[in-house]
Amino acid sequence: MIDPGHGGSDAGAIGIGGIREKDIVIDISQQVAQFLQQQGVQVILTRTSDIDLELAPRVSMAERARANAFVSIHANAISMARPDVNGVETYYAPGKSSRLAAAIQNSILSSLNVRDRGVRAARFYVIRNTSMDAALVETGFVTGAEDAANLSNPAWRTQMAQAIARGILNFLQGR
Ligand SMILES: [Zn+2]
Repeated sequence: MIDPGHGGSDAGAIGIGGIREKDIVIDISQQVAQFLQQQGVQVILTRTSDIDLELAPRVSMAERARANAFVSIHANAISMARPDVNGVETYYAPGKSSRLAAAIQNSILSSLNVRDRGVRAARFYVIRNTSMDAALVETGFVTGAEDAANLSNPAWRTQMAQAIARGILNFLQGR
């Protein structure tokens, strides 16, 4: 299950040049789904268009589908006064396995020139309430000078999507 964060009236974070998290993450997520499907993985997206979607239905979709893995895709933000803060971080829920998060973070770091902000534990709703392995990836800072330039670049988003998909594949193959 691939979960593009935010959507509809919830734009998520807004960054340099007015880039919106919801637009970045739907593009990356749809490409992650395509790459995985090309590798024979059955994929469901929580949203395929720009709609409002609460957190609880995202979890129940994954449960109903009996998904093996749940990956929520986001972009990060901090104050617009901190363009120096850049990097990728991937989260797992405390008390759950970090293996999926680590597989995704490692794959991103091995294929993209980005700063490593680490694999971290945090109590985000969608990764805490899903019963299967789950990770939430922050693909970069929309408020970061380096990351915003990358996130605005369609070719870079494709590379990010491929890296996330490869990480998920590595996880599924080692499961
Ligand atoms: Zn977000």
